[in-house]
Amino acid sequence: MKYYLSILFFSIFGTSLFAQTYTRQDSLRGALSPLRTCFDVTHYDLNLRLNIPQKSIAGHNTISYLVKTDFQELQLDLFANMSLDSVVFEGKKLLFEREGNAFFVRFPQIQAKGSQQKLAVYYHGEPRAAVNPPWDGGFSFRKDKNGNDWIGVSCEGIGASLWFPNKDHLSDEPDSVRIYCEVPNGLTCVANGRETGQRKTADGYTGFEWKVSYPINNYNITLNIGKYSHFSDTFVSTIDGEKLALDYYVLNYNTKQAKKHFAQVKPMLACFEKYFDKYPFWRDGYALVETPYWGMEHQGAIAYGNNYKNNKWGFDFIIIHESGHEYFGNSLSVNDHAEMWIHEAFTTYVEALYLECTKNYEVALAYLQEQKKQIYNISPMLGDMDINHTKWEGADIYYKGTWLLHSLRNTIDDDKVWFSTIKNFCKQYKISMLNTQQVIDFFEKETGKKLAPIFYQYLKQPKPPRLSYQLVKENDTTYLQFRWWAEQPYFNMPMKFKLKGDKTYQTIYPTSEVQRIVLGKKDVQEVIFAEELFYFTLVQE
Ligand SMILES: [Zn+2]
Repeated sequence: MKYYLSILFFSIFGTSLFAQTYTRQDSLRGALSPLRTCFDVTHYDLNLRLNIPQKSIAGHNTISYLVKTDFQELQLDLFANMSLDSVVFEGKKLLFEREGNAFFVRFPQIQAKGSQQKLAVYYHGEPRAAVNPPWDGGFSFRKDKNGNDWIGVSCEGIGASLWFPNKDHLSDEPDSVRIYCEVPNGLTCVANGRETGQRKTADGYTGFEWKVSYPINNYNITLNIGKYSHFSDTFVSTIDGEKLALDYYVLNYNTKQAKKHFAQVKPMLACFEKYFDKYPFWRDGYALVETPYWGMEHQGAIAYGNNYKNNKWGFDFIIIHESGHEYFGNSLSVNDHAEMWIHEAFTTYVEALYLECTKNYEVALAYLQEQKKQIYNISPMLGDMDINHTKWEGADIYYKGTWLLHSLRNTIDDDKVWFSTIKNFCKQYKISMLNTQQVIDFFEKETGKKLAPIFYQYLKQPKPPRLSYQLVKENDTTYLQFRWWAEQPYFNMPMKFKLKGDKTYQTIYPTSEVQRIVLGKKDVQEVIFAEELFYFTLVQE
């Protein structure tokens, strides 16, 4: 999702001078204790009924898992405000103990390593209401303009355990999910993946069954309930001619507008294929679902709430950004929320590449310049590990992230290598988990360049590198003297410059040592550095 800067930035900045202290709840949520690493979730089977007047849900989640090490107790997560009715294993109720938003389940016998098991957790309650969705998420119980119920669920960062019991850690995605959701007759429940059935109950409800046949982040699992109309289309792969189902669920009175507006999806998918390979969740299809909040990257059911508006660049930001997350975030995913820069930097860069694809590189450069204005350089892009870090100061994981990638492209200075690196990155880590070091190792291997100091200057340091330079005149010759000032040792990003009137850039290779070159002209007054190609601050001495 895109960060909502104006509110969070200033409220958090006020407290940024104080060191963070973390609680046991932070560790229970964000760390991988043996009570969590002892099992690997293979499937969630979520069964729910919504009581809309009471804003409550009730049901159970059957959790299938592979036992990784022998254990007799495991940890699951469900927000403390939700009532946990029972945990059932092989027909018997198990003992459990709650501690804040976590709970611990005790088994009568050892669960043996290598065995496949399942337990069902029955629960009910009024899930947290979204405060400012999607940034501060939960359930949004709204009405559409005809007064029909319109409900959405968003929980990125805060976690899916706010509404269903699960192992709420990014490192463990279920391999597949079934979602069964009962809503009053007349309303539709749209969840992720493919709809596989409906059934009417005797008491006036319709149950909708959805299946996700790929691994999925917990926070991507969602429900959308409303008076929806549904229309479909097909995207034909430009690579191999295979057909991808496109499904759109919009409020019934917006159908005509949506049909016109969503025409931008197919050219977008063609651009994405060009740069990032085929859409990663082909079997489940691509879908947009109209939501009462701005947007979210819900896998195979992308939340769309941008009121059919294009920006001044001629595209709908929510469609392009949230769909980009199908590659960066949903297909390749981080293990720890602290490394969310991988989801957001690449997806924010997707926006510029989309413009490069549909217009040209100059327009993409202009767009990047606009993104640059939102870089704040207050804190590092890498958060603290093992505590479910969600509170960055500013939005640098987006905008400084996109500029890290743009600077890397110009460091590599070979677009053929750059684009093959990005595409191979998507292929190598398709539907898998990765961390920062793996990203760096991959980019170094593919490009044959030492990029770690550049990555780490941007990721670990709050400040960008500073290039200092001086025009030195000696014996009728002007020299350009320069060096990098960077906290990261061996920072070695190349730089381009030109003299006034020059058409092309020359490349220099600054380090932390002072270097000088002859500019070859007398009395040079001005040097122009490539500030549109690299992110740095410039200091003339
Ligand atoms: Zn995003």
